[in-house]
Formats: sequence, structure tokens, C-alpha cells
Amino acid sequence: MSASTAAAARYEPVIGLEVHVELGTRTKMFCGCPTVFGAEPNTQVCPVCLGLPGSLPVANKAAIEATIRIGLALNCQIASWCRFARKNYFYPDMPKNFQISQYDEPLCTDGWLDIDVDGEVVRVGIERVHLEEDTGKTLHVGGATGRIHGATESLVDYNRAGIPLVEIVTKPVPGTGALAPVVARAYVAQLRELVRSLGVSDVRMEQGSMRCDVNTSLHRPDEPWGTRTETKNVNSLRSVERAVRAEMARQARVLAAGGTVTQETRHFHEDTGDTTSGRSKETATDYRYFPEPDLVPLAPDPQWVQTLRAGLPEPPRTRHRQLQVHWGLSDLDMQAIVNAGAVELIEATVAAGATPDAARKWWLQELSRQANEAGVELTALEVSPVSVAELQRLVDDGKLTDKLARTVLAGVVAGEGTPVEVMAARGLEVVSDEAALGAAVDAAIAANPEVAQRIRDGKVAAAGVLVGAVLRSTGGQADAKAVRELVLARLC
Ligand SMILES: [Zn+2]
Repeated sequence: MSASTAAAARYEPVIGLEVHVELGTRTKMFCGCPTVFGAEPNTQVCPVCLGLPGSLPVANKAAIEATIRIGLALNCQIASWCRFARKNYFYPDMPKNFQISQYDEPLCTDGWLDIDVDGEVVRVGIERVHLEEDTGKTLHVGGATGRIHGATESLVDYNRAGIPLVEIVTKPVPGTGALAPVVARAYVAQLRELVRSLGVSDVRMEQGSMRCDVNTSLHRPDEPWGTRTETKNVNSLRSVERAVRAEMARQARVLAAGGTVTQETRHFHEDTGDTTSGRSKETATDYRYFPEPDLVPLAPDPQWVQTLRAGLPEPPRTRHRQLQVHWGLSDLDMQAIVNAGAVELIEATVAAGATPDAARKWWLQELSRQANEAGVELTALEVSPVSVAELQRLVDDGKLTDKLARTVLAGVVAGEGTPVEVMAARGLEVVSDEAALGAAVDAAIAANPEVAQRIRDGKVAAAGVLVGAVLRSTGGQADAKAVRELVLARLC
């Protein structure tokens, strides 16, 4: 039993998720600066996003539209009138010393998202969806870990400062028990699919355009909810699940020892899978919110909202169900694909010629295993859907056995080339040359005269010994069925 499952046997978990989505608008939230990812540091800045005196913000209509569409897709109420607020805080990545956000008047409130987990539907309540601006990025250099501790200097890049950011906050989710870590992951995976379907963000967790904070608390059954911690910047689906597991296990240890859980921000560490204490959580008072005086209130025209509602695409759940029928997969297989974030990968692999079942098998079994070992997401592996389809074709054509195909795939992931190139370079093709195979069979018969005699006497089952010998002598590169036929043809 895992530590989080043991925790759920004694305590009820309540989870909550805060997801930040960087919108893919052409320009920033309150100025005309471009938003291209990966540009030279501090080349996409202007007086407004640097917070220089006298500069004035103007809200980006495309960002407001994208936020309303996210709210509508999450079944939220859209405010007919709301304001931006100034959130005051002092970090070097915030050039203005305040962030324009929304506080008590969010654009979208009170919605829900139904997610599929383990054959069940879990309805996750949505507290609010609001719009704010992103901060810059601080880089600590000269140390071993990239953290401020041990660094010799810190650099700040303001290209990201002012990029529109949507924050999607769930209501607390109780009642999921030992499944809490899986529910958290499934929610983020399915929310990501939803946002992607709207075309408003590329939602790439590895590039930070989707980031997640995870709230976790534990309480004894029939007692009030416990104190929650907030684990910050959990940046992959895998980490979302691991962060909840880690917090459940840690809080259960604290509670079981008679201690109390402190309300605080915690940091998740990819390498160890643990969380450590960060700063103690600021309260709303610390931020001294007040309505942003440089912006007019936001009052979306109901007609406009109606038009946006009518233009929403088909929900991903509907599309997934159609794909499932089309692919002939079970509910659980399809949910596993969605929650692994692998729908697009499998669609592309099928489009490249693989059967849905083969595509599912490669991505969810062998490649998931390799991704887990490397501690990365599936999408981060150096292998394309086209390569996976090509690999399956080699298996179907009898050029690779499943076992050889796995070795070839490891070569592809290691950057050695396409499956055909890796197979050729490593000499992994199945030996199908009749003469070479015949010679190997003859050698095996000569080396095992007693076994050969038993087969001649009618004990056909003994052929397995000779087949095994041939497979060994060819380094696993012979097709077992073909070898068996050759053995029997020679001895019976
Ligand atoms: Zn700017």
C-alpha cells in the first residue's frame, strides 16, 4: 500500500486546484508588446509592462474574449460588470511592484467540469476564472541547483511580464479518498484538453504556459476539514499526482504524531517527489487590493457573450467518446489515454498508419515506462507519432519482433534516428534469410542430438529446446514461429 493510500484509510483528503493558463494572444495584456516564447531576454518590453511612471494600461480585448470563452466552456456565470484590481507585492520579477489582477469581482464564477476517472464521473466545481497579468522570470545563476541559495547572481527577464494569464480556481473537492491524487491529475489533464480545444493557449506545461498549484488537506472522518497547504508550480501532469500523494503522506505523518498542519506554501521537488516548506501563506490583507484606477470597469455586452457561447467548439469529452467508438477502445483504455495527455499523440500515430490498439500500446506501455524512468512527460520524449507508426509497420512486416522493436524504440528515443535507421545501424532486423536460419537450425540439431532424437520419435513438444537454442544463437533476431517450422521440417 502506498503512503498516500494508507493516509486515505485514516483521513479524508480535500483537494483544490489553481491552474494558471498563459493566453496565446499576439500582444500582452495591457500593452502592445509581442509575446513570442524564447525571445532574447528583455527585448519584448515597453514603458507600460515595465511600469515606468506616467505609462497607462489598456486592456486586451482578445484576452477578455478568451477568458469569457474559458468561463463559458466551464459552465460559469459571466459577470455583466467587473473591475480589475491592484495586487501589491514586492518581488523583483514584478517591475511595477503590483500586479493587475481581479479580486472580489472576477469575470467568471460558479461553474463546473465533469471529468472521467477510473470509470466514474467526478464533477469538479469551479469557484472562479479571472484574468491577470503574468510576472517576469528570475534566473539564479552560479549555483548548482538554479535556486537562489548558493547562486552568485540573479538575472531578471521581463519578456513574460504582462502576458495575459487566466487563473482557474476549483471549489474544494472532497470525497475522493485514495483516488485524490489521480483525480487531481485527471482534472488538470481534462482541463488542458478543454482549453486546448478553445484554441486560446498552447497549454504547454513544460514551457510554463500552463502551471498548477495544488491545495491539499486531511481530516478525520466526521470532523471539520483540516488546514490546507498550497504546493506551488507543479509543472507536469505526473507531478500533480505525485505532489498530492506527497502532501497526503506528509500531512498524515504530522497528524498521526499528534502535530498540526501549518497553513503555508510548499514547493514540490521533481527529483525526490517531496514537498518542502516555502514562505508562510500571505493573506488577502497583505496584498492591499484596491480597484485599479487606471482601467475602466469591464462590462461585457450580453449579446457578445451570447455570440461567444454559440461559437464554442464541441467539448473534448464528446470528441473523446467519438474517438473511443471509432478506435474500438474500452472506457478505461480511453480514460487512460486522456489522463496521460496522449490523445493527440495517438491520433497522430493512427493518422500515420498504425492501428489504434498498436498506437495505444506503444504510447501507454513502452513509451510511458521510458518517460517515467526519465522523469518526463510523454510529449517530451524524442519520438514522433510517425516513428511509432513506422516501428509498428516493421513489426507487422515481420522485420522486428516485439522485443527487438522495444530495443529499436529505445534507440529512437535516444536520438539515434528513425526506426529503420536504428534497426539498420544496430543490426537488429529479424533474420529471415532462409540459408542463415537453416544453418542456425542445423547447428542447434547437431549440438543437441538427444533432443533431436526425441523429436524424431514423435515428442514434438521438445522442439522448444531447439527453437530456444536458435533464438539464443541469433541474439533473439529470429522469428520463433519460422524457426519452429524449420526444426519440424528437418526432423519429422
Ligand atoms: Zn509592454
